[in-house]
Amino acid sequence: MMDYSITFPTGTVKYMSQGSFAALGSVYDPSHCIIITDDNIAALYSSLLKTYKTIIIRAGEEHKNLQTIESVAQQLLQSEIHKKSMMIGLGGGVVTDITGFVASVYMRGIPFGFIPTTLLGMVDASIGGKNGVNLGLNKNILGTIRQPEFILFDPGFLKTLSTAEWSNGFAEIIKYACLFDANMFEELSKHSIEYYMQDQSSLNSLILRCVEWKNKIVLADEKENNSRKLLNFGHTLGHALENLYHLTHGQAVSLGMIAACTIAESTIKTEVSVKQRLLQMVQQYKLPYQYHFDVKKTMGLLKMDKKRNESSIDYILLEDIGRPIIKSLSFEVIEQILESSDHASHH
Ligand code: ADP
Ligand code: ZN
Repeated sequence: MMDYSITFPTGTVKYMSQGSFAALGSVYDPSHCIIITDDNIAALYSSLLKTYKTIIIRAGEEHKNLQTIESVAQQLLQSEIHKKSMMIGLGGGVVTDITGFVASVYMRGIPFGFIPTTLLGMVDASIGGKNGVNLGLNKNILGTIRQPEFILFDPGFLKTLSTAEWSNGFAEIIKYACLFDANMFEELSKHSIEYYMQDQSSLNSLILRCVEWKNKIVLADEKENNSRKLLNFGHTLGHALENLYHLTHGQAVSLGMIAACTIAESTIKTEVSVKQRLLQMVQQYKLPYQYHFDVKKTMGLLKMDKKRNESSIDYILLEDIGRPIIKSLSFEVIEQILESSDHASHH
């Protein structure tokens, strides 16, 4: 499988699944393109970018905010970018979110495409059409749903990725396995980050499989009325922890997935082995399984989650690997379980 297209309610996306950045110029005239990237990627790949106009933002989640949006929009105006131009986000989740957001609102919308350069970007952040920025501690609270015209996957970029960034990607890959794919869970349990770093074809098929799962869910429910909620597995608590502590997204999601297993054990019928298997898995992919957090503070943030209802929240739990359910849980119940579990400190 090389190139294919999928049509979503908000647009058709062309997937260039084993593409290369170098070939981009033959598809889109570089003089009509502008590349948005961050300062790390710009430094690592300056020679690739020579023939393109670029806008360079500062790396890091703390720059995924309105200030960056304003600055990018101003530079688009200065570069005379218009509705026939192509805005290309080259980077991780921060860059693709900023690119998708600006492209959705600049001149009421101009064409854009993504070239994810992180594993997390390839399996998750660049897919699905959600483009958001943070407002203070509230993650992705301002955003749009609009699909890019294309997503180009060039695994060559992964060669410069740090181990921490590999782990981040694997947190999402493990999430897909838990939710939908017991076979993939089995495969992951036999391997390691080092294995996938070395085995290009195994890595490619793993990425393709995750992209397929995500697209399947987004196709069924782009606006997140039902099944797309499943993708929040590990993210409800995860986002709160990520905001409160110095944790990467993958570390926070890892802790969130483990906590969801703990919550499942006292609220639904769940296979006893699930938590054990997941504990083993996250450690194998260099992700944490234990963290002492302040339950009261964390609950405070959980209550600001955009997916909450009046006094409850739709929590994603696993009956087994590959069998997720959506369960409405009151904040009280969640707090009680977290207080009495060994993940949390009691202040
Ligand atoms: P994500 O949300 O996908 O983890 P970010 O946009 O926050 O991504 O990027 C994580 C970090 O990795 C940033 O510091 C970014 O500059 C860096 N980065 C992104 N792609 C690469 C790459 N291919 N090689 C090295 N570093 C990269
Ligand atoms: Zn995530």
